Amino acid sequence: MIALALPAQSDARAPFVTRLAATRSDRTTDSFCLSSSAEHSLWCGANGLMEIAHPRAALLGDIVLVDPAARRVERLIRATSRHNTLLVTERCDQLCVMCSQPPRKTHVDRFDLLTQACLLAPHGMTIGISGGEPTLYLPQLLALVETVRAARDDVQFHILSNGQHFTQAHVERLRSPVYRGVTWGIPLYAAQPYDHDSIVGKQGAYDRLEQSLVHLLRAGARIELRTVVTRDTLPGLLSLARAVTLNLAHIEQWSIMGLENIGFARQRWDALQVDLRTGFAPLAAAIDRAILHGVPVRLFNMPLCQVPPAYRHLAVASISDWKQRFAKACDGCSAKPDCSGFFEWHPDILVEEVTPL
Ligand code: SF4
Repeated sequence: MIALALPAQSDARAPFVTRLAATRSDRTTDSFCLSSSAEHSLWCGANGLMEIAHPRAALLGDIVLVDPAARRVERLIRATSRHNTLLVTERCDQLCVMCSQPPRKTHVDRFDLLTQACLLAPHGMTIGISGGEPTLYLPQLLALVETVRAARDDVQFHILSNGQHFTQAHVERLRSPVYRGVTWGIPLYAAQPYDHDSIVGKQGAYDRLEQSLVHLLRAGARIELRTVVTRDTLPGLLSLARAVTLNLAHIEQWSIMGLENIGFARQRWDALQVDLRTGFAPLAAAIDRAILHGVPVRLFNMPLCQVPPAYRHLAVASISDWKQRFAKACDGCSAKPDCSGFFEWHPDILVEEVTPL
């Protein structure tokens, strides 16, 4: 697993964002390396000196948030990774049964620092924004997107949201060309309001989501629907596919996702987990329906050897590099470069049950 937070020391008085640059320059945003060993690297920039408990080579180009009081550095944007996601809040107004990152009540506002980080992103990068629920801070979130996209229209955003907070008042703003570089990843778990509400732990969530989707579609927003496959959602997938093709045919993509064994899902794993090798049939029926009606489908977080051959071309190597894991037997698999593998925290016994292709 790749560490995203590293012990560090800095003589700065307040948190700051800097890019760890290969060479010394006049840019006040950059820090350059004075010395490096196998365990530490010493950097210098406009905010003074800092020492990071990590060698220089692995950090070059990273955009980091340095927190002197916490004595740590957060690697917000790793230059060599396609998987960079900024956590803007840990608060959420839903309580999904399979939540991988259970919410907290507290919030530390770091939007200014995160905006600075995005402005320094490598050319053409797509930056994920996640939580908690990012739209609990919608004014700050939209300001971040607009500031960054106005200065850097090569940078795109993928924002995960429960879709509970969009109103008619946002439609005109979201029509701005700035938002052509933004995809909203929104979970929808069932076609029936009661079923969706039960899964997200909030009465009325389905109805509110339906309203938000209308506003987003009126704004021409790019929408990716997301459905996690669990024993609760699997029986209703075909019915959900019908609803999506009838009412939401203009979405950009329907992502059907494997379950992540962390957070609430870890506690409820046996009750939620679906063995794709034996339980794929309802999923196949839903996929067939969606594709037949022109809705693009992608499968996330599903090892290729657990997906029937006819559907493997839909599976994406979606698990972020810093939390991706393979079995020993995967080394002999011809499909490994295109395979998601498993989450680092997937049960050992299940990881070892792979079938190299
Ligand atoms: S054997 Fe490993 S690399 Fe190959 S498809 Fe299965 S999980 Fe992926």
